[in-house]
Amino acid sequence: MRVLAIGECMAELAPAEVPGNYRLGFAGDTFNTAWYLARLRPDMAVSFQTAIGTDAISRQLREAVAGCGIGTDHIRTVPDRTVGLYLITLTDGERSFSYWRDHSAARLLADDAAALARAMEEADLVYFSGITLAILAPAARKTLLDALRTARAAGKRIAFDPNLRPRLWSDMGEMTETIMQGAAICDIALPSFEDEARWFDDADPEATADRYTAAGAETVVVKNGSDPVHYRQGDAQGAYPVPPLSSVIDTTAAGDSFNAAILAGIADDSPMEASIARACRLAGQVVQGRGALVPVDPARVDG
Ligand code: ADP
Repeated sequence: MRVLAIGECMAELAPAEVPGNYRLGFAGDTFNTAWYLARLRPDMAVSFQTAIGTDAISRQLREAVAGCGIGTDHIRTVPDRTVGLYLITLTDGERSFSYWRDHSAARLLADDAAALARAMEEADLVYFSGITLAILAPAARKTLLDALRTARAAGKRIAFDPNLRPRLWSDMGEMTETIMQGAAICDIALPSFEDEARWFDDADPEATADRYTAAGAETVVVKNGSDPVHYRQGDAQGAYPVPPLSSVIDTTAAGDSFNAAILAGIADDSPMEASIARACRLAGQVVQGRGALVPVDPARVDG
């Protein structure tokens, strides 16, 4: 299966050992999922679609993506823009994030409809998120949703993590409406209950699963931190208890890594509960490490 992830990858500055020093990395929700998928399944063709600038950090980002075994053929370059940046600050062990992404090149990732269509043509499964939608101007958002709808009609499978981020939206009504437009064109929805409950008033994870099923998703997997994962797949449904962990260090990218294992399972036609078990083992390793991209052991994911 060929997978195309669409979204923003940013430069990350994380505190280094020496106080006041920072380490440069690259991360972003859909990119993180592509990264974990490439680690879990090195044999799989995983590629990433975004837009970057033509400056040195943009070239470094492209090289970093390629260096992880992720295809870069569909990364657009836009002169006069550069990659978004975020900086992590540690205060008494708590991480907080500052972002500089308002004018990132990635905001233009859907400006070329023909290029988007070409990228999707080369994929069997296309993955995007609510953050991918949030960063786009309304016209570009429509271009992306139209391209996804066309790809789906041509038989591609579409996977969507709603990843609700109110800070990226100017209007909460626009956020929830656009998220449900994304839901309406996906086959696989991967929401997180805590976010969904807040913005859609879902009473419980079943209500979240019902809403995405009603929107048209054949498969829905509802994450809920350390609480059970609820799923629907066609007529089947169930809840899978998350194995408890002795320690949780940093939950960054827990959901992104979880999604990667679910997508790998869909590629393999694995039974849903086996995929969720692997997703929990992968996310369990990720929350016990620091940062978005934790060098996990794929053998431990298989159990
Ligand atoms: P998101 O990062 O999208 O908010 P969640 O916080 O719901 O996602 O976490 C995704 C997955 O990560 C969970 O389904 C679970 O497998 C794992 N996970 C997250 N937090 C914990 C925790 N405290 N203990 C064990 N597993 C966890």
